[in-house]
Amino acid sequence: MSIPFPSAFEERVKKDLFLGQDLLTALDAQAPVSLRFHPLKKRSDLEVIAEIPWCENGVYLKERPSFTLDPLFHAGAYYPQEAGSMVLDSLLKELDLPASPKILDLCAAPGGKSTLIASFLGGDGLLVSNEVIQARSRILKENMSKWGYSNSIVTNNDPKDFQRLPQFFDLIIVDAPCSGEGMFRKDEKAREEWSEDNVHLCCGRQKRILADVWDALIPGGYLIYSTCTFNTNENEENVEWMVEELGAEVIQMELPSPIATGRNGIGHYCLPGRTETEGFFVAVVQKGDEKLQRQRFTRKAEFRMQKDLLDIPVYADLSETIVLNWNDKLLALPKTMEEHMLHVQAQMRLQKMGTTIGEVSRKGIIPNEELALNPQLCIYPERIDLNRQQALNYLHGDTFPLSGTQGYRLVTFEQEPLGWMKHLGNRFNNLYPKEWRIRMNV
Ligand code: SAM
Repeated sequence: MSIPFPSAFEERVKKDLFLGQDLLTALDAQAPVSLRFHPLKKRSDLEVIAEIPWCENGVYLKERPSFTLDPLFHAGAYYPQEAGSMVLDSLLKELDLPASPKILDLCAAPGGKSTLIASFLGGDGLLVSNEVIQARSRILKENMSKWGYSNSIVTNNDPKDFQRLPQFFDLIIVDAPCSGEGMFRKDEKAREEWSEDNVHLCCGRQKRILADVWDALIPGGYLIYSTCTFNTNENEENVEWMVEELGAEVIQMELPSPIATGRNGIGHYCLPGRTETEGFFVAVVQKGDEKLQRQRFTRKAEFRMQKDLLDIPVYADLSETIVLNWNDKLLALPKTMEEHMLHVQAQMRLQKMGTTIGEVSRKGIIPNEELALNPQLCIYPERIDLNRQQALNYLHGDTFPLSGTQGYRLVTFEQEPLGWMKHLGNRFNNLYPKEWRIRMNV
């Protein structure tokens, strides 16, 4: 790296017996490339060199490919993710969660943790993925749409808005905005932007976020707090603050051995040099007993039940879902979660709820890309499998001569759905969403 470490950072790390020179050396070495496969979609043939011990479906790659030029990336068949963050998978499996848990991922964009949680839930329970910055919440929506589960909601709210959902969630993940010392290897700019003042600014913000969302956790529920930074102020000290100010109890989990226990026995670190990661801190706390309030569910009136689904059962398995009409968009929600999802919808600013299976038009129902990408719902039999170049052209928004018969067709690559086309006989209308299209030359 050409940009040196900020000197205050370097001095602090050298003096810190927990970190030391080893961390600095590791931060100057090359970063590993890792991703997590979707458990229900096709495994791409990217060259895998090792599995990630703490995450099912997590792997290291030999080298970084151009993800944009791989149609399976757009199919949501995998999510490129830093290996340390994937430790969340081990934590979720260890935690004593109730059946069908309700989980909030509070700082969720672009969606690394949320797609991992969605795979863990496998369509059961409820996942609310929130992002306060609107532009980033749209990226989150896109990634969650491509990952494709109907027990998911994407919101665009400030953490304090979740006070409108008191004692609602069994688990809250706060993957907090931080000073990003774990980015020093991948992103040179992170070194330039770091300052001690920013560390203190981040600490204050993190405490505010934690205090704002605490009420939304059910008594006995868990909160997972994480950052991608190494200093004690934003990590162990914030956990201690939660114990003192919020009455949280620290739950120390068992994690595989290269993962270090944090200072004072609080939380865990994936440290570069000791693990093949960029750097990640995570801690679990539990909310103590407090009086459980009676939940009063609200719902907005603007939904209609969609009863005349004449076309839909042909291409969607709706046996476990309920379909609601929201301004002529047909939303499939798991029957078991309908009440909870409508309650969240009534309180929050929504980007997405459930799986949009289609839109009602004068000529019938136009199938939606979210249905194509949801492997639990999409059973549409009329498919057109494109070769790699055709698939890239389709994802680019192009249309080209293609023989076939007229009607909606599910577009696939290596049999994995990408989206829809309307076939006109010898060519087609490309229905791939404009905002998802590849912008580079294909
Ligand atoms: N969890 C994400 C993932 O795994 O892909 C990464 C989240 S990133 C570390 C932190 C997120 O917090 C960013 O998306 C950022 O926009 C958001 N954020 C920034 N300020 C915030 C605030 N005051 N309250 C809540 N979230 C905030």
